Amino acid sequence: MFDLIIRNANLPDGRKGLDIGVSSGKIAAIAKSIAVAAGEEIDAAGRLVSPPFCDPHFHMDATLSLGLPRMNVSGTLLEGIALWGELRPLLTKEALVERALRYCDLAVTQGLLYIRSHVDTSDPRLVTAEALLEVKEKVAPYIELQLVAFPQDGYYRAPDGVSSLDRALDMGIGIVGGIPHFERTMEDGARSVEALCRIAADRGLPVDMHCDETDDPMSRHIETLAAQTVRFGLQGRVAGSHLTSMHSMDSYYVSKLIPLMAEAEINVIPNPLINIMLQGRHDSYPKRRGMTRVRELMAAGLNVSFGHDCVMDPWYSMGSGDMLEVGHMAIHVAQMAGIDDKRRIFDAITVNSAKTMGLEGYGLDVGCKADLIVLQAADVTEALRLKPNRLFVIKAGKVVARTAPRVGELFLAGRPASIDTGRDYVPPVLQR
Ligand SMILES: [Zn+2]
Repeated sequence: MFDLIIRNANLPDGRKGLDIGVSSGKIAAIAKSIAVAAGEEIDAAGRLVSPPFCDPHFHMDATLSLGLPRMNVSGTLLEGIALWGELRPLLTKEALVERALRYCDLAVTQGLLYIRSHVDTSDPRLVTAEALLEVKEKVAPYIELQLVAFPQDGYYRAPDGVSSLDRALDMGIGIVGGIPHFERTMEDGARSVEALCRIAADRGLPVDMHCDETDDPMSRHIETLAAQTVRFGLQGRVAGSHLTSMHSMDSYYVSKLIPLMAEAEINVIPNPLINIMLQGRHDSYPKRRGMTRVRELMAAGLNVSFGHDCVMDPWYSMGSGDMLEVGHMAIHVAQMAGIDDKRRIFDAITVNSAKTMGLEGYGLDVGCKADLIVLQAADVTEALRLKPNRLFVIKAGKVVARTAPRVGELFLAGRPASIDTGRDYVPPVLQR
């Protein structure tokens, strides 16, 4: 007897028509036609059942603040940072909590149940840290929220950058952030990487830095980050977010850099939506894409996971909490359109992100947590194409969100009465 059985599921690895039995919040069986009753049954009807999406890079203190106190007129990264500086003194804990909780509601309906958020520690009031620590506790029953102490205005550049970051960690923020390319000089940036890795080693914490989020081919903090990771024995516990300068770097230099990153087991976090929007802004034509070298980093065995970064905030006026939108953009910007490429992209918003975040019990194996989503699509490539509705979102074996299938009704003589894009347009090559 199971608490829940999902019947006739297609899995992300390509297996088809399986039943998934859930017991006491865990996956208890995955097999063809499980002949046991269950308290609740969901018919996946040949649709994709996946572990939930994981967003390894987000800014929950800024989300849904679009238009406060004004819009980003130029739409650039630097005006975004300036605008956030105008909004920051006006932030209240109550408003931060309310916006973050509303974002988490949206995330759950999108099947996004694991989020790593940076928390700006530049304002010594640390109202951002207070608010997000409260949110982390409030959403724990349905979203695992990880928090990064992030010195947005520079660890050394902001007047209280050093002490504020320390205090945020003392309050319980569990990951050390940084922004070396925003320090005053390249040397200050390198010093900040060393200091922050030392703090992480001393406190036994992971590192996740905004690193080289610039078009400058000479911005090389990722080299320093890899070196300090090895020096402090932090291999596998360090993430480099953005790394957009790698797009513009000389390829000979990159051929030396990528093995250094592999040696340090750096987790790479590009943010395709934000990178394609904000990078290359000073170019005329041809215009650079600005996302890091995803295909090459994956080929070298590095763990690459994609972040959403922003939803309706000073930097990005768009976004919907949908990691499939992130993956969809990644396919285009990285030009990864092959079938195997698309599977790798789907991994980057699920299992790879889970690895970056160090999640335990994540996945589709017996014994894993019964955190599952049923999508209105046949497989991962169709999911990335359609960004379909998440029909069921399941946390620890319980349905926490449900969305009706998207079905278009037609009133055309001699044509079908309705179409279900997730079912009626699956190409024959994928039906085998
Ligand atoms: Zn960011």
